[in-house]
Amino acid sequence: MSSNVITRRGFLVGAGTISAAIAMSADAAIAAERSSTKEGKPASKGSVEQEASSWRIAPADPDDDDVIETYDCDVLVIGLGQAGSCALRAAAEAGARVAAFEAAEEGNRVIMGGGQVGHINSQFLAERGVPKVDVVEFMNDWQVRSNNRSNPGLIMNYAKNCGACFDWLFDQLTDDDKKSMQIRCLTDGMTGPFMKELSGIKSWIGTAMTGDFIEPALDHCLDVAKSEGGRIFWGTKGYKLIQGGDGTVTGVWGKTDDGFVRVNAAQTILATGGYGANEQMRNDLLWEINQLQEPGQTSKAMMDQDGSGICMGVWAGGRVDPCSGTMDGGYWYPTDKPVDLLGATAALWINADGKRYSNEGFGSTELQAMPGVKQPSGDICTVFDSDIETLLAAQPYGHMALDMANTDLASLHATMDAAYAGGENGSAGNTELDSSNNDITDDGASGNDNAAGGIVASMTPPTVYAADDFETLGSYLGYEGESLDTFVKTIEHYNELCAQDKDTDFGKDPSLMIGLTKPPYYGYKGTKQIGALMVTVGGLLIDADGRVLDQKYNAIPGLWAAGNASGGRFGWQYFTSIAGQSLSMAQTMGMVTGKAAAAQK
Ligand SMILES: Cc1cc2nc3c(=O)[nH]c(=O)nc-3n(C[C@H](O)[C@H](O)[C@H](O)COP(=O)(O)OP(=O)(O)OC[C@H]3O[C@@H](n4cnc5c(N)ncnc54)[C@H](O)[C@@H]3O)c2cc1C
Repeated sequence: MSSNVITRRGFLVGAGTISAAIAMSADAAIAAERSSTKEGKPASKGSVEQEASSWRIAPADPDDDDVIETYDCDVLVIGLGQAGSCALRAAAEAGARVAAFEAAEEGNRVIMGGGQVGHINSQFLAERGVPKVDVVEFMNDWQVRSNNRSNPGLIMNYAKNCGACFDWLFDQLTDDDKKSMQIRCLTDGMTGPFMKELSGIKSWIGTAMTGDFIEPALDHCLDVAKSEGGRIFWGTKGYKLIQGGDGTVTGVWGKTDDGFVRVNAAQTILATGGYGANEQMRNDLLWEINQLQEPGQTSKAMMDQDGSGICMGVWAGGRVDPCSGTMDGGYWYPTDKPVDLLGATAALWINADGKRYSNEGFGSTELQAMPGVKQPSGDICTVFDSDIETLLAAQPYGHMALDMANTDLASLHATMDAAYAGGENGSAGNTELDSSNNDITDDGASGNDNAAGGIVASMTPPTVYAADDFETLGSYLGYEGESLDTFVKTIEHYNELCAQDKDTDFGKDPSLMIGLTKPPYYGYKGTKQIGALMVTVGGLLIDADGRVLDQKYNAIPGLWAAGNASGGRFGWQYFTSIAGQSLSMAQTMGMVTGKAAAAQK
């Protein structure tokens, strides 16, 4: 079975076409639904604002004449991505008669994700020397990150099951395959910490670079389901849930090119991914991001699903998590050069007025970056000195960190050398650097987790400038007059704080207070804006096992959700203690939900 895997690297090449196609299909779907709605009405009474949102309006049921096939099963899974494939296999293994709708035609399934699967306590990690993580410590850290907005029971369920899920999903790999899988930030004979804590926020080692193994693993899930008698309806898009008089979900209509399929199912699992390609939903649900935009800026989806599964859940009375976050695109390093060349390194950040504005080492990437979006319009600069490696080594292990164990720093040093040689033109004059920069920003074999950063930066690597004094560096970075004076004073003052080992301005961890004392000094900049999002990570509110909740927070009988169709997981942003927890959570909660749904049959 062949599919398309969208890695961050592949995304660079195919992003325009694929995301345009997905976005177009979303708009077309909404337009079609609006025009074809015969008796369309809001599924539940919401606020005036909600009722004004047409994605919340259910289409009419298909005419009987348009139904080309009816099929019965115990568990129906809608969407065969990361969560859905796992749900289907788990439900089949638990003895349920399963079926699935997948919008893509057979052979054209797009597997999203760069393959970084961040998890804890698998046999795989243990065999590679990664210590066990205490689930209570892990779960509490998660809740701190989300301000307790994520569902505590759900997160604990995930924490307890993600290791077992990893071993289960990759159980067909040989020992040699497993040994060949890189683990981010892990070095042979590692003596350093496996957990880092900055400003009370923790991060752990536990990201498996599953790369080429993920597609076969997900295909294997479908093969298991089929070998148990499961049926997959390819090229069939979940259209609308079928409900009994008491609201119980009893099946689903799927739409094909030839008409509708009706599947009667005791349990239905929505695993249709996020809604980033649906502009209306982005406008309605990403309200914090939208409120933070400067005039003229809008949120953009670089890649994602069209939210159709979430819409189906809403039409059936489901509730959307009001705290709907995104992977990237929110507070992720908030400039038009979203990659930080230094990963999550807590280098000194200076705003357009020449002022420092935050604790650059607050937790991990997204938390670090939050105050940046509220800085004055213009450039934000990152400034460091020639001794950057000490700070690089102090990074948290989470999303976007530079993988010090697997990244060759020679290209960073080459960029720094070119910056110095380039004077006021910085590294931009050196065309050979484009490829060397890719080593730093690529997510592939280097093991770096720079997401869209890897992509965007590959296209537009930041120009690095270098000088022997702060004033010259500031002028190369574009500061002049008062802001240049402030820039120089800011660095001098920062050095004083570092010398006293206490950041009385913004509370940065003393271990990160390393002054800029070793020339040359370096800097690069980006124009402040909220970047484009990869995927949305909020959706239908669910309970700890994955049941979709109604307007009164009661489970809707027969309806489940997993992966990015579900909410209550990440809070305002995808900010995680281990890189790659979006895939891991989709897979784990897919597996958990599949088993739980099968148990209801
Ligand atoms: C370029 C890129 C790189 C990424 N890298 C990583 C990474 O390394 N690690 C990580 O943790 N996360 C990563 N992510 C995020 C990760 O890919 C997603 O969070 C994850 O795929 C979500 O899984 P899911 O199963 O919920 O949805 P998806 O993987 O999006 O799957 C949804 C499936 O449902 C189908 N579908 C949608 N609507 C319908 C419908 N109405 N009817 C039938 N079928 C439908 C779709 O065709 C698709 O097959 C990355 C994202 C991108 C864009």
